[in-house]
Amino acid sequence: MAETMHCYRHPKRETRVSCATCGRPICTECMVATDVGIKCPDDARLPRGARAGVMKTNQVVRSILAGIGVAVVGIPVAYVLFLLPFFTWLISAAAGYGAGTLIYRAGGRNGGPVAIAISVVATAVPFLVVLAPDLLAGAFNPLRLIAMAFAVVAAGVANRQI
Ligand SMILES: [Zn+2]
Ligand SMILES: [Zn+2]
Repeated sequence: MAETMHCYRHPKRETRVSCATCGRPICTECMVATDVGIKCPDDARLPRGARAGVMKTNQVVRSILAGIGVAVVGIPVAYVLFLLPFFTWLISAAAGYGAGTLIYRAGGRNGGPVAIAISVVATAVPFLVVLAPDLLAGAFNPLRLIAMAFAVVAAGVANRQI
């Protein structure tokens, strides 16, 4: 006898059907018949194979871990960037895009708002750490803020949903 499961949307209802995409149990009321099998409403609604922007918990965790890595590694990178006499903004943008791509990959290449938020924060942190003494002294350099803006935007762009 098949193991009895409970609909993930109706925990009190027993079912033996599960979604072809995510494997979650679904009751007869919730199931949606598609040309590739029975699916839960979440997966039936989305185009086949596309779960862009919908990160699973473990992907969010991996993105956050990658973001922490980026923030830590980024501190010396941001410090060196500010020593450059020119093209700081351009190299900052490239570094930000690289950091964003790393987080995008760690998150299972989903992109979307969560990945963008993690990337933006992870990229902004190193710059803020390096800029903190200037900012606290009220003597910040606008060019450095522009470089930071480029890096942060590039990190976000790397995580856009395609
Ligand atoms: Zn599903
Ligand atoms: Zn249900």
